[in-house]
Amino acid sequence: MLEFATEKLQDEGRQGEAFAPFENDPNAYKRRFYIESYGCQMNFADSEIVASVLNGEGFGATRNLEEADLIFINTCSIREKAEQTVRKRLTDFKKIKSRKPALLIGVLGCMAERLKAKFLEEEKLVDIVVGPDAYRNLPSLVEEAESGQKAVNVLLSRDETYADISPVRLNSNGITAYVSIMRGCNNMCSFCVVPFTRGRERSRDAGSIVQECTDLFNQGYREVTLLGQNVDSYYYLPSAEEENTIPVTFAMLLEKVAAISPLLRVRFSTSHPKDITDEVLHTMARHENICNYIHLPVQSGSSRILQLMNRTYTHEWYLGKVKRIRQIIPDCGISSDIIAGFCTETEEDHQETLQVMELSRYDMSYMFFYSERPGTLAHRRYRDDVPEEIKKRRLAEIVALQNRLSLESNQRDLGKSFRVLIEGDSKKSEKDWMGRNSQNKVIVFPKENHPYQKGDYVQVRVDDCTQATLLGKIIL
Ligand code: SF4
Repeated sequence: MLEFATEKLQDEGRQGEAFAPFENDPNAYKRRFYIESYGCQMNFADSEIVASVLNGEGFGATRNLEEADLIFINTCSIREKAEQTVRKRLTDFKKIKSRKPALLIGVLGCMAERLKAKFLEEEKLVDIVVGPDAYRNLPSLVEEAESGQKAVNVLLSRDETYADISPVRLNSNGITAYVSIMRGCNNMCSFCVVPFTRGRERSRDAGSIVQECTDLFNQGYREVTLLGQNVDSYYYLPSAEEENTIPVTFAMLLEKVAAISPLLRVRFSTSHPKDITDEVLHTMARHENICNYIHLPVQSGSSRILQLMNRTYTHEWYLGKVKRIRQIIPDCGISSDIIAGFCTETEEDHQETLQVMELSRYDMSYMFFYSERPGTLAHRRYRDDVPEEIKKRRLAEIVALQNRLSLESNQRDLGKSFRVLIEGDSKKSEKDWMGRNSQNKVIVFPKENHPYQKGDYVQVRVDDCTQATLLGKIIL
């Protein structure tokens, strides 16, 4: 499961930004669209595909809701709360539509796929419902809706990867970008809606990924994050017509992207523990520009619960994988996803989750309590029987432990120096730069009179830290 950009941006106190679309040249386009994105990075990357398709149809993007002829909301369905957020936002759009009857409202993404045409019954103001695999069809769906009909396309595809569509970068800092390398997921974790809302796994052709990363590098980007629900199972089988017919594994793809330039940093997300191989770890160790950071969701520390979750590994096996990662990449940063209060979870199971966190020494984690999702395996097989107040208490204990682990991890970096990619001004002060080290830790340091710009690499010594941020100074 991919990290949640919305939560991430909320953590960084950049709530507003998560919603603010970018602006095309006002004179270049007659009609305007406004797009808001929620959920994981894959959704944000999809919104960049949508923007490209609409630009191609003569729609320019606007940040101003009042200016829009088309409003799209790219939705998440991973938890009940995510869907409630979307429904609330639709009520805001209702007010605008009451003033602009010709305005079209479209719902994209996982909630659109989960609810399908039912969305139109539940939300009368919605004109267009489009699933994650049908964005190419947007122009004709908009036409249909402009003729007064409700327009729906929620067909999932076995081969759609949008490989030939160049994303239009939204909210970009011009330095870091997401590049989706595959779509869908074949794992059937019992709590997860993704296989139902994003379909079967398919890998994008390696040549188009390398080309997109090369174009980004030539445009001044200095970091790419390769995206997929489970990147380690990336496997591209060239068609017979292609020149090079050798299948491409994830390790080989990493090597190809790293070879573009030593100045291009490479990250990836998300890994399923069962699929991350020694080959990938050795490839990371061989290339300085492949970052030493792995997001390795554990979800639970109890082998009994992991079996009910259909995660296919045990408590011991997972810890063995963490140990193997640190054997091959000793300074590798590791983060995780954790669900508290899954069906039948006991206090002992919960203690095992705390123990795995302690032993894995995570730098950071995304932590939630279990939210039953309609249609999932767990919904069909198990009762959501852990009372909410117990779920919340256990989640609070998990968060408290992670806060301690994050602080301890940052304290271990005091006095060390790191190669940092400058991403922009720090949130708090324009006098400070903000960037990340290879371990994906945020570092803030004063600009002083150094001649550096966004996109430059600098050596920074860590002098202080908080639980979330390292504080340092440029050393020459
Ligand atoms: S099914 Fe499992 S691996 Fe796939 S997206 Fe969901 S949680 Fe991740």
